Amino acid sequence: MAAPRRPPPLRPALHALVFSALGPLLASTSHARSTNAVDRFDEAIARELPQTIVLSDGKGGGALVIESLLDVELHFPDVSGDVPGAMYRVTWQGEQAMLTRSGGHLDISVPRSGDMEVTTFDRDAEGSHQGRPDAPRGNDESAAHRASRQRRAVPRDARNGTTAASRPRAASSPVLVFWLFLHDDTLDMTREHIHAKYVAWWIADMKRILPTRRLWAIYSQQVDGLTDIAYGQASSLKDWTTAVDSYARRERLPHVRGEFEYKFMLLTGNQVAPGVSGLAWLGGDHAMASLKGRYTIVAHEYGHTLTASHEDAEVRWSSGWPCETNLKSTTSLLRANCYRYSAANERRMRSYMANEWTVPVRPDPPDTPHYMVE
Ligand SMILES: [Zn+2]
Repeated sequence: MAAPRRPPPLRPALHALVFSALGPLLASTSHARSTNAVDRFDEAIARELPQTIVLSDGKGGGALVIESLLDVELHFPDVSGDVPGAMYRVTWQGEQAMLTRSGGHLDISVPRSGDMEVTTFDRDAEGSHQGRPDAPRGNDESAAHRASRQRRAVPRDARNGTTAASRPRAASSPVLVFWLFLHDDTLDMTREHIHAKYVAWWIADMKRILPTRRLWAIYSQQVDGLTDIAYGQASSLKDWTTAVDSYARRERLPHVRGEFEYKFMLLTGNQVAPGVSGLAWLGGDHAMASLKGRYTIVAHEYGHTLTASHEDAEVRWSSGWPCETNLKSTTSLLRANCYRYSAANERRMRSYMANEWTVPVRPDPPDTPHYMVE
């Protein structure tokens, strides 16, 4: 046996373990009768799934069938530390949906033809609010965030030996980290709603496509040199790539090819380049996407980094109304989103991952050129 590799000392792993250990505690049943939707949810997931509960959404009752926990690591690190999340496959009011539970609230994402309907329940609020995907954060909170501007997406104390050593050896499959940096000009939309709208459904689908990979989604905001980067010009993707690479070197991110890899995404409030809502390196590790794009924009650009192509995208007619798979480049507002990749693009991504992960050593920088795609 070779000497054990130093495991990546990323704080989220540790916190995820802590979170799962705390699960039953968080779902404490010490309240004789819980009236809050979030508490009722936590009580339900402490029992064996599936569970059915009824949540009030302010317009009447809604049945929620909590089917299973999605095996994806989700983290919203903050200036105050790590904020872990968990995702569940659910049926909400009779429709298949994804539910994301984090902090004091939960978000239910229901895919619609051209929309992603999100219903949110807050621990401190009565009922839910709906149709306010871009509900601004409180001014006080934003101000506090800016005052203590986060210099690092991963807190420094995650790097000491104790923390790293306490992380269990990676006994199972390799980790693929989808790391999403929220540009400063997106702060009027909460990161939880960005996740619920653009990412939740997609990463659940990625888990289906790459069932043996361990997938992480990490959101970072207010990171100097990254989330305040200038963009909107032709060189945006190159500039973003340079900034991330510099950050990765400075922070000594534990990049272990074949075991622990990253795909970095910058999410922006405006077009990433003139007339362009997303950019990526084909088969590369860097991408950017505008929240002004379709709800499939993150899936589209991350798909490119896994070598998915426009040529293999398709329009489907099976559901009575045409829909576009994630990589369709010539989009039409008359067509819905399928919220799926084409079978051909799924094959491309699986093949890319298989090649990528079975060749543990390759020249760095890679000797195959990356091509920029929209
Ligand atoms: Zn494209």
